[in-house]
Amino acid sequence: MDKNARIFVAGHRGMVGSALVRRLTEAGYQNIVTRTKAHLDLTDQGGVNLFFEEENIDVVFLAAARVGGILANSTFPASFLYENLAIETNVIQAACKWNVSKLVFFGSSCIYPKNCPQPIREEYLLTSPLEPTNEAYAIAKIAGLKMCEAYNKQYGTRFVSVMPTNLYGPNDNYDLKSSHVLPALIRKAHEAKQRGDATLPVWGSGTPRREFLHVDDLAGAATYLMENDVSEGVFNVGVGHDLTIRDLAEIVCRVVGFEGKLVFDPSKPDGTPRKLLDVSKLGDMGWKASIELEDGIRATYADFLDKYASMQQTAVAA
Ligand code: GDP
Repeated sequence: MDKNARIFVAGHRGMVGSALVRRLTEAGYQNIVTRTKAHLDLTDQGGVNLFFEEENIDVVFLAAARVGGILANSTFPASFLYENLAIETNVIQAACKWNVSKLVFFGSSCIYPKNCPQPIREEYLLTSPLEPTNEAYAIAKIAGLKMCEAYNKQYGTRFVSVMPTNLYGPNDNYDLKSSHVLPALIRKAHEAKQRGDATLPVWGSGTPRREFLHVDDLAGAATYLMENDVSEGVFNVGVGHDLTIRDLAEIVCRVVGFEGKLVFDPSKPDGTPRKLLDVSKLGDMGWKASIELEDGIRATYADFLDKYASMQQTAVAA
């Protein structure tokens, strides 16, 4: 790929988009194009069209989305559907119209059915019902990947989709009311250490198994797909193995330096017992994740510490 290619990273302020900008910059790409929401509202079809007309974009990473946990999804299902569908239709249609040479669309492993065989292969998509708690988001993401397939078929575009497993890394959400387990445990272990607590509360039984991918590995996989001769398809991106929430909590405590005991809270939900992606499709093409979980958590803890002071100020102001 030409290092002067004009690469639009949609959603550059998010966890995935910011990792992409870091990765592409490191790889020497000179023309990374970004827009804040204030300057380009991706749900505005006219604005998106004008942007593509003026900017001469060669490659798009479509990492912009309205995201949120269970609570947000079930409270605002219309917004999750509308905003994500609008972003996808506007960007994908404009990318086709203005002859973008490649587009990488970012989905999520929640697109797969609730009761999937494990590890989850790409072809399990749409074989049985979805998990109802994030259905609005999942339906919009399925529509996005189906649009990529349909545009490739009808217009000969080269649009590919990636489906990452649970992500973590810099710029994660550390708000305990809406965060996922890894950033939540980092914050809780840090605060427990500061207070000198003897115990750390962990939700659920500790037995569910999850797979965790550092967002820099996802950016690496997406860049790999951009640079190699891949013109279509859906690709799971993960590390290929999972661990229990108990084991995860132990690693987090080790990294943070909290020496107390884990106490499991069975009044909180366990969620699905296991979620592991089959990553052999991308593996067979020669890509695999390289960031070890403990190393990734150590780097994420450093990022957390950088932001912790300002997080507390926001909390006090609120
Ligand atoms: P999921 O992967 O979609 O189920 O979402 P989460 O990352 O929120 O939760 C994964 C697992 O971690 C569940 O079994 C939770 O009960 C467990 N867990 C343990 N402690 C926490 C916590 O402090 N916050 C969250 N979000 N999950 C926790």
